[in-house]
Order: sequence, then C-alpha cells, then structure tokens
Amino acid sequence: MAKKPTSVEIRSFQVGFGDCFLVSFVYSAADKRHVLIDFGTTGLPRPRKPSTHMPKIAQAIKSEVGANGRLTAVVATHRHKDHISGFATNGSNGGSGKVIEALRPRIVLQPWTEDPEAQPDALSASTTNGGKKGFVARLMNMNALADRVRRLAASNPPWMSATVRRELQFLGEDNLSNKSAVDNLIAMGKAGDKKPRFLRYGDETGLETLLPGVKVHVLGPPDLTQTDAIRKQRSKDNDQFWHFVSGVVPNESALQDPFSKGKRVRGVPEEARWFRDRLQSVTGQGLLEIVRQLDDQMNNTSLILLFEVFGKKLLFPGDAQFENWSYAMTEAPDKARTAALVADVDFYKVGHHGSLNATPRQWLWEAFKKKKGKQLETMISTMSGKHGRKTSNTEVPRRTLVTALESGSQLKNTQELKDQNIVNLTTITPE
Ligand SMILES: [Zn+2]
Repeated sequence: MAKKPTSVEIRSFQVGFGDCFLVSFVYSAADKRHVLIDFGTTGLPRPRKPSTHMPKIAQAIKSEVGANGRLTAVVATHRHKDHISGFATNGSNGGSGKVIEALRPRIVLQPWTEDPEAQPDALSASTTNGGKKGFVARLMNMNALADRVRRLAASNPPWMSATVRRELQFLGEDNLSNKSAVDNLIAMGKAGDKKPRFLRYGDETGLETLLPGVKVHVLGPPDLTQTDAIRKQRSKDNDQFWHFVSGVVPNESALQDPFSKGKRVRGVPEEARWFRDRLQSVTGQGLLEIVRQLDDQMNNTSLILLFEVFGKKLLFPGDAQFENWSYAMTEAPDKARTAALVADVDFYKVGHHGSLNATPRQWLWEAFKKKKGKQLETMISTMSGKHGRKTSNTEVPRRTLVTALESGSQLKNTQELKDQNIVNLTTITPE
C-alpha cells in the first residue's frame, strides 16, 4: 500500500447557500479515501428544490466513493442548517442523509460543542465543569429562539420592515435545530470504526491512521478552558444581547429542550410570551442585531481543519469568524507555528461563503504567501442575495473579497456553475 497520497481532489457541490466539500486523497486508482466536509443548504438556485436536489448531490458523492466504497470521514463543521441539512434522514431533504449513512463513514468529527455527553454548563467536551454561563445550553437556546424569530417574522408584524423580515427569516431558518441531521450525525458516529470525536484547538483527529501520509491540524474552535473569546464575542457592550443570552428567560428548562419544540405550536407557548413581548418592544433593527450575534456565535463553533499532505497545506475553516481564529493566531502557545502553517496555505476553502469577517485580512488573506503568481487555489460555495445587504456592505459574498480572491488566486465559485453542472473540481498535486 502506498504510504502517502499522490494527489488530492477537492469537489465543491452546488448546494446554493451552504457547503458541501468532498476531499478525496488519491493513493492509487483503486484506493481513494474520501472525507466529506459538510452537506447542507438554506437556499438553492431556482428551480431546484431540496427534496430532489439534495438526493442528487448525495448520489454524486456516492458515485465518487464507489459502489461498495465507504467514506473515510464525515466532518460537520458546525450545527447550522446550511452545513448539515443534507444529513437529514427525514423527508425534508428527500432523505439524502440515508445515502450518506449507507456510505458508512469510518469516523465522524464535530466541534466540542456538539458532544451529546456535554453538560449544559460545559467548558469543554464531556465535562461537567461548573461554569455558570452555560455556553452549550445557550447554543441550544439559540435553536429554540431561532424558531420563534422565524415564526414572528413570518407573521409579518406591521412594525417590521420587509428587509428586516427577510433577513430574520433567513437567519431564523439557518439556526433551527435540524434534529434529523443531528441525530444522523450521532448515529453515524456511533456506527463508525473509530469513536466519534468532538474536537477543540490542538486535538488529534483520529484521521492520521486512516489517511497515511496526511497530517491534520485542528486550529479551532478553542474550548472555554482555552479562551473566553468565542463566548464573549465582541458584543460585550450590547445590553440587549446579554440580557437575551444570559438565561433571563422564564421557564428556561423548556427552552433548553429545543429538540422537542421544533413542531408547529398552536397559539403561543407560555415560555414564548415573555419573548414575544420583548421582541415587540424592540425595533426590527435591534432584533436583527441580536439574531445576527447569535448566528455569529454559532459560526464561531466551526471546526477549522488544516490538512498537510506532500508538503501542501489545505485549509477548511467552515464558517469560523474573527473570534474563533483569534485563539489560534494571538493566544495559543504555538501561535507562531500556526501562523507559519496558515501563511503557507496552497488551498483555501473560503470561510463563511465569502463574508468579510470570516477571512481575517491580516491573519489570513494578507499572510497567504502563495497569492504570488496566483499559486493559491481557492474555492467558494455561496449564493448572492441570501445573507447580509449591499447597502451596509455586509452582502455575502462580499464583492471586495471576491475581487481579491479573483486577483490573488485560482478561484472556483459554485455561483459560476452553469446549467446541469453541479460540481467544481480542484486537484492538488505535489509540485
Ligand atoms: Zn454557512
């Protein structure tokens, strides 16, 4: 058996606003080992529908893996719908998750915040650390609150502008709990050859033995014993936000079990009344600000992986934003080594569909040495018009970033895929 891959094929499937990357390490024509990083969507280019399009993508993944093949790994970078909805086994995505499940991933990797054994007040995976802030519980609350926000926006209250309503519906939708997908990730994890891992900065992934010759670095997220940055965000002076997330919610236990709450509720559930009253007392803009911060917080639980293979470095940061990167780049004991690894990147999966705050200019873009002569390969999975706004320069993908990517790298963008073509391919080879 070959000791190291001879090339790496990276496929980015058309999932509209979402991510679906299949990274195939080619050891020989008969031995390709596949790592699926995310599979989800919150909006497809017309006229596609999730119920038919997502199974089509799942079948395309299956045909790469081969008739009797298995996925080496499934990586779910974070719990947003646009990264995991394809793993659902219920009808919502035509059962695309069943196709993936049948590919029997040998290992499933997720961030530490997804450990089903984690206590609500955990500061790291599988601990009962007595932190009072309840970070994991707060992420759970977020799913429940997202559902209420989405329903509120859908009810079209007269005080809410159409623009705010659209964005709230989008963010609410993306932050729903996605129970079927979450359950399938847990089930696939349990059925694997190796125990599922819930990773934080610096952990071993378990991929080393499954992918000979490949080194995998976990650059994020840090857990809360490593840093407070992802918990604090940059919202510390926003009273609304802190009131909202610090647990000042009546009947909090009900909110902490969002998985039982996803169904349609007749009337307004008791615990939502406080929420409803509060929402109606803030402006649409204020509400949007709160929900955006909750959304950012979930993005910042993203697993950041850097693969090192035949001297090349491939970076997959999920939707990690500034605060997640901050630990690796400014606080970690081995930050100098990390900065050197990142500067030498040959392939970059553009963070968070091209939002500006997910490609920290100084730490990533300006540091990337391979921009020189456009040696850098980049891929972006995105869809305009879903997230952010042009008028406030927050549109995703951000046009200034796309321009920089086009001038400094070989960019492949799912938005450029024509007609029936559903995949972009980049092949990484030794020099
Ligand atoms: Zn995303």
